[in-house]
Amino acid sequence: MMADADAGKINCIITKDLSRFGREHVMMDYYLEFVFPEKRIRYIAVTDNEDTERGLSDFVPFKNLFNEWLAKDTSRKVKAAYKAKYSAGEYLCTYAPLGYKKDPDHPNRLIADEETRWIVERIFELAARGCGPGRIVRIFAEEKIPSPSWLHYRRDGSFSNIHGDDPGGKAYHWTNATVRNILTNETYIGNSIHNRQHSISYKNKKMIRNPKDEWVRVENTHEAIISPELFHRVQEQAAIRHRSTKDNRVQIFSGLLRCGGCGRSMSFGTNRTRKGVPYSYYCCTAYRQYGAERAGCTQHYIRYDTLYACVLARIREWAQPARSDDENRLLQRLLNAGDRERAAAAKKQTAELNRAEKRRTELDRLFTQLYEDRVSGRITEYNFDMLSERYQAEQSELAAKLERMRAELDKERETADNAKKWLAVIRQYADPQELTAEMLNNLIEKIVIHEPVTAPDGGREQEIEIHYRFIGKID
Ligand SMILES: [Zn+2]
Repeated sequence: MMADADAGKINCIITKDLSRFGREHVMMDYYLEFVFPEKRIRYIAVTDNEDTERGLSDFVPFKNLFNEWLAKDTSRKVKAAYKAKYSAGEYLCTYAPLGYKKDPDHPNRLIADEETRWIVERIFELAARGCGPGRIVRIFAEEKIPSPSWLHYRRDGSFSNIHGDDPGGKAYHWTNATVRNILTNETYIGNSIHNRQHSISYKNKKMIRNPKDEWVRVENTHEAIISPELFHRVQEQAAIRHRSTKDNRVQIFSGLLRCGGCGRSMSFGTNRTRKGVPYSYYCCTAYRQYGAERAGCTQHYIRYDTLYACVLARIREWAQPARSDDENRLLQRLLNAGDRERAAAAKKQTAELNRAEKRRTELDRLFTQLYEDRVSGRITEYNFDMLSERYQAEQSELAAKLERMRAELDKERETADNAKKWLAVIRQYADPQELTAEMLNNLIEKIVIHEPVTAPDGGREQEIEIHYRFIGKID
């Protein structure tokens, strides 16, 4: 309505009373006193007996304030009513969770949805067999299992913000979060959890999460579609996976690995399907979540132990001489390794800088002489003007060039300083026998994992690009 009013399509607004028009008194006063008069809109509140044509009574701001207070009070009452309903086991969310639907006879009760409960059962079965959310997402995409939002969209047109533009295009787009939420949702064993989140206030409807101890759990409020045994087994397995990820100390690489194909992070996985010792690996996060076609990337698979050995070897290669060699020689080696051309470029630049400075001194001398010649009448005014203009142009050109070259050389010196800093860090690690998160984060900016290629001799060759802090790529 206010859009129409702004567009000038409305010249009169009538409401039953002031509270129907708006609840926030600041905004109401603004409309009544500024917007309406400006847009020449007549406003009538019937029962309050107000009409802008006749002039608003002085009582209006107080009435508005009162209406706001009333709205606040009602919001509190609604919250209280919700809490009473929880205890009665009623389901109050807009959408029933996947696998359930709202009972047509009792809209606040959940009943199993025979059309979709198999999807939930499948998720729990896969999880019980050791699949993490990521793997389940991949399997579902392959098997074309419809996502919850797509099911809602097909049934009643909700979630059109996701599917409206391209119906069916994202039908099988599950996310790790959706799967994780289902796997931890006690609704599936017949319990209701309430008070998980609350809106900030009656004015701002943004929802924020409540701490877990404020949640309200009501047991056996509806039919369970997952047995408590299966549910708890899945929770245990998730806890074990979480712990073993920590035990493996794979966290040492966290945040450092990048996919060489798409630049995104690499995600960690553990392969348990083979007999014997399980082994861990990294692969492109996008590939893992969406598959090659949708991610537009390939696997970039690397085993954890391969990566570990490679990075340790490369760090040791620098750590050993960092302790024994003399600083200058090592610094030179470091700078050369960083960029062989850089040293040569610096040398050339210095020579050029010297030449430019020499020419500037010469120009100064020429200028002085020119002036003397003019004073003594050795050259005409015309020639003096011409030559001095030329010298001045050359002088300002030289000044700019000198500034540019000095800045470049400063940067060069900075690189040398950075190399010294990095050497100081790596010296701390003497002759490392193992990697730690602290060491990696102190020395390394990022590690880029490239897709392996088949070497001429038929072996597997994979580039692991280490970008060190301060100095970048050096080997
Ligand atoms: Zn990638």
